[in-house]
Amino acid sequence: MTENYKNLIVGAGISGAVLARLLAEKGQSVLVIDRRSHIGGNCYDFLDENGLNIHKYGPHIFRTDKEEVWQFLSRFTSWQEYKHKVRAKIDGKEVPIPFNFTSIDALFDAQKAQVFKEKLISNYGENKKVPILELKKSADKDLQELADYVYEKVFYHYTLKQWDLKPEELEGDALARVPVYTGYYDGYFTEKYQAIPKFGYTKMFENILNHPNIKVQLNTDFKDLKDISCERMCYSGSIDEFFDYKFGPLPYRSLNFELKTLEQEKFQSVAVVNYTGKEPYTRITEFKHFLNQKSPKTTIAYEYPTAFELGKNERYYPIPKQENEQLYQQYLKLSQKQKNLYFIGRLGEYKYYSMQSAILAVFELFKKII
Ligand SMILES: Cc1cc2nc3c(=O)[nH]c(=O)nc-3n(C[C@H](O)[C@H](O)[C@H](O)COP(=O)(O)OP(=O)(O)OC[C@H]3O[C@@H](n4cnc5c(N)ncnc54)[C@H](O)[C@@H]3O)c2cc1C
Repeated sequence: MTENYKNLIVGAGISGAVLARLLAEKGQSVLVIDRRSHIGGNCYDFLDENGLNIHKYGPHIFRTDKEEVWQFLSRFTSWQEYKHKVRAKIDGKEVPIPFNFTSIDALFDAQKAQVFKEKLISNYGENKKVPILELKKSADKDLQELADYVYEKVFYHYTLKQWDLKPEELEGDALARVPVYTGYYDGYFTEKYQAIPKFGYTKMFENILNHPNIKVQLNTDFKDLKDISCERMCYSGSIDEFFDYKFGPLPYRSLNFELKTLEQEKFQSVAVVNYTGKEPYTRITEFKHFLNQKSPKTTIAYEYPTAFELGKNERYYPIPKQENEQLYQQYLKLSQKQKNLYFIGRLGEYKYYSMQSAILAVFELFKKII
């Protein structure tokens, strides 16, 4: 017997779940499928055996300046306020990232530090983010020295590990994400709202998907779906996979996480510490900081970037290179030939979406299709 739905949504991540909810509230039936055994996509979290909340696919901090995004999600969760701070281990010292005036004070003698700070302010202004490659172009000898230092100690090895590319080979806003900050502010983000769902991301997704017009079917790959008919399909899986890699596979970076539970209350001073040298991992996350959880034990995750290999691991980051964007455009053109088929989210649109940008894109699509 064929089941009929107005909408089929492939993927129960933030793109699929938010779109499902919007459509359901317009009175339309929605079937959401996911091949994983859980909802939430890469935002999925769970409680480990010690009751600590773990982000399975890497640390997720919700942030937005957009009132409409904040109001929408706030219908489905209350929030734990959380200001994200990141530290890096450099020359044996733990310093703020983005590299700021506190980092300069910690790593250089007082006289040198003063020169760097004054020159940064006179060249770029106070409390500004200066992308490292811009700083590298400076004609001033002191700023060049600082740029070379930050490039080597903060940027170069981290980028190689993260992307398997030299910084110069990267395109898009991946570069802008490693600035030098011309002030003492040590928050990683600047958005007005920064928070973690108080009862976890998965609970928030349960609430989003809890609507009489929505049916969720897990452990279901799109290619194995049978006896379903729909008028519209929104697909948040990888677009190249959908089209059987007709033009070749879209490249991705993947990640491996090694979880360790330690018999100690705290491991590090903040949730995320970056390792910017030659260690094989890029960061260590200590999860209990996010919800300020108390426990005599703690769980940490070492994060190892690695190549994406089909069938072996998961797709994490689209690789920001022009040739990859061109390949994606070929798939997009092909998809536009089919009526009522939409590709959404980080895999469907081959974009590095934060949660808020994924939601905004879905809001736009919803306005277009409804
Ligand atoms: C390590 C890491 C850290 C991040 N940290 C942050 C952060 O701090 N803040 C932030 O805002 N964003 C962060 N992000 C980005 C965030 O994860 C994404 O914005 C979000 O997951 C995008 O949601 P999505 O629904 O587009 O994709 P996904 O979450 O990937 O969901 C897609 C879903 O589709 C399913 N699927 C795919 N193909 C099929 C198929 N053929 N059949 C059935 N189901 C299928 C998948 O199983 C998956 O569940 C981070 C990302 C990573 C990788």
